[in-house]
Amino acid sequence: MIEIKNVQYIYNAGGDDTKEALRDVSLTVQDGEFVALCGHNGSGKSTLAKLMNGLIEPTRGTVTVDGLVTSDKKNLFDIRKTVGVVFQNPDNQMVASVIEDDVAFGPENLGLPPAQIEERVQWALASVGMQEHRKGTPFRLSGGQKQRIAIAGVLAIKPRVMVLDESTAMLDPVGREEVLEVVTRLNREEGMTVIMITHFMEEAALADRIVVLNRGMVAGEGGKEIFADRALIENAGLELPLSARVAADLRERGLALDGNVTLPEELINALCR
Ligand code: ADP
Ligand code: MG
Repeated sequence: MIEIKNVQYIYNAGGDDTKEALRDVSLTVQDGEFVALCGHNGSGKSTLAKLMNGLIEPTRGTVTVDGLVTSDKKNLFDIRKTVGVVFQNPDNQMVASVIEDDVAFGPENLGLPPAQIEERVQWALASVGMQEHRKGTPFRLSGGQKQRIAIAGVLAIKPRVMVLDESTAMLDPVGREEVLEVVTRLNREEGMTVIMITHFMEEAALADRIVVLNRGMVAGEGGKEIFADRALIENAGLELPLSARVAADLRERGLALDGNVTLPEELINALCR
């Protein structure tokens, strides 16, 4: 679905404040996959997100979305219909003062007929469990609810890929849970490809695959077992999920915990054994 090949990205190339954000990144995301992208601040995550829907084009290398290369301008309309991006701050993503108008904005811009716009608004709001708020205003909602509206706005375009760029970072634990529930369900039930950028390792552990970015390079990737590699995670400026950290500390002190321990249930089971 997405193929990133030897991508370098330099901001302000040639200027005095030139900055190489990505050095040489190669990454393939399959249709229907749920990938977590993790890395310290400044490791290049948002740059990668912007490359994936053609907001910027690589300095070197190629990004291909469902067979369409992002550096060809005539592909951009289709690429942006295919890859929707949800950003960090829900307040910056609201465009209208009535929720249904906000969600209709994307399909209206696609030039869809009114009946189809209506159908999509209903479906998108139902998908995030916000249909009863459709006539309301986004400004009175909680952070989690606002972010669900932002997701509905992206969903209404019916993208096959959703990129969430630290979309839970500004939310409280309840809001974070709401958003994760919606995203996980869209992936499992609707087959939507999800790329979730996060620095919460507990969230990353929900994904099928975890990609660790460090200083503009892929430092490692794999399933949850990647958290057994404490050095990889900590060298990348990240923290192990709490349960993995407790397990690693206990092992270092000589307690022989068996199995892969990333989630709280796994820690409890390992301790009981
Ligand atoms: P992350 O999302 O992982 O925090 P970013 O992709 O935002 O990282 O940034 C990667 C690097 O590129 C950082 O060093 C950042 O300061 C730099 N950078 C990001 N955006 C710009 C920009 N618009 N102009 C110049 N440098 C930028
Ligand atoms: Mg970022």
